[in-house]
Amino acid sequence: MANPTPSVQVFCRFRPQNDHEAKQHGEVCCKANETNALIDLAFTDKISESQNAIFTFDRVFTPAHSQSEIFDRVVAPLVTDALSGFNVTIIAYGQTGSGKTHTMEGPPNVSYDGPDAGVLPRVAHTIFSTITSNESSSTENEFTYNVGMSVIEIYLERIVDLLDNSTPQIKRNSDSMLKIREDASGGVYLEGVVEQSVANAKDLITCLETAGKKRSTGGHAMNARSSRSHLVAIVTVLQKRGGVTTTGKMSICDLAGSEMVRKTEAEGQRLKEAKAINRSLSALGNVINALTKDTSAATSSQSSAHIPYRDSKLTRLLQDSLGGNSKTALIVTASMSSVNIAETLSTLRFGTRAK
Ligand code: ADP
Ligand code: MG
Repeated sequence: MANPTPSVQVFCRFRPQNDHEAKQHGEVCCKANETNALIDLAFTDKISESQNAIFTFDRVFTPAHSQSEIFDRVVAPLVTDALSGFNVTIIAYGQTGSGKTHTMEGPPNVSYDGPDAGVLPRVAHTIFSTITSNESSSTENEFTYNVGMSVIEIYLERIVDLLDNSTPQIKRNSDSMLKIREDASGGVYLEGVVEQSVANAKDLITCLETAGKKRSTGGHAMNARSSRSHLVAIVTVLQKRGGVTTTGKMSICDLAGSEMVRKTEAEGQRLKEAKAINRSLSALGNVINALTKDTSAATSSQSSAHIPYRDSKLTRLLQDSLGGNSKTALIVTASMSSVNIAETLSTLRFGTRAK
């Protein structure tokens, strides 16, 4: 391959200040160029003198960047990798309201065929357009493929199947919990998870909609629930070409709100949620950090014992898709408004520490 995708890349995406922030006298406190995010610390109480904090990423996206620019730069190369048999992970990390779901799916009520469509619908279209062109360019019946889709949610360190229709809605504490298993070759899978076979982009998008409906009937409003749990969409692509089989897997994660980690004043259920989220987000940071620090671990599956995958369900589930021979893109999302500067600083620190 002429230009292989790096094993771990970290991106930053800013959303514009919204009306709600402007009403709270927010001001735009962030600037960006291609690879740097610059935060004006004069907007934090603790620092009196004007001073800037600079964070460096593989690429920084501002509100001027479109959904298609993000897809082309961050995701399209990873779809190509997945179709060549790599496991790839794409993660959105950031505080609630910072643009994780906007990035992964699109704005509320988005048309999945339109210009505002996010990563997942674009992945769906790209996988099938690539497969269709491979199919038509291949001779005789030598080319077959199978695309499977699973969607799960991790809530309180429990894994819930969002495509399993046998339980009509999420019951907070009594959900049956999927177990993570490892196969002989080190692949990770969820025992008994529904893997929907999808024949085209529309099928894949229907799975997402089904999962979204199940997720929002858990007795919480969609936003409340989604800020407290991780959503992982897993797309598996199996191809047979002239007797050669390749399997690639894409794990696309819309994480719980990172601000939950600091809800230490919480009690009861909220405190349990905050602890579970804290555990998984810090485990994720530690794993990515270990992978980027130790390049031998990132290229050798033997040394994966040093990477603390087992510290959370999220990292355990992603074990065969983070490090080793896999590719990871972490997208941290943040608001440009001074109203959220503390969370933004924390998010950017997470992103650069992961790098
Ligand atoms: P999260 O999933 O991180 O909680 P959302 O993706 O739901 O946040 O974003 C909150 C709101 O902000 C949504 O209405 C969304 O469309 C809007 N928004 C997020 N990112 C952007 C952006 N880059 N440009 C314009 N609007 C955005
Ligand atoms: Mg969201």
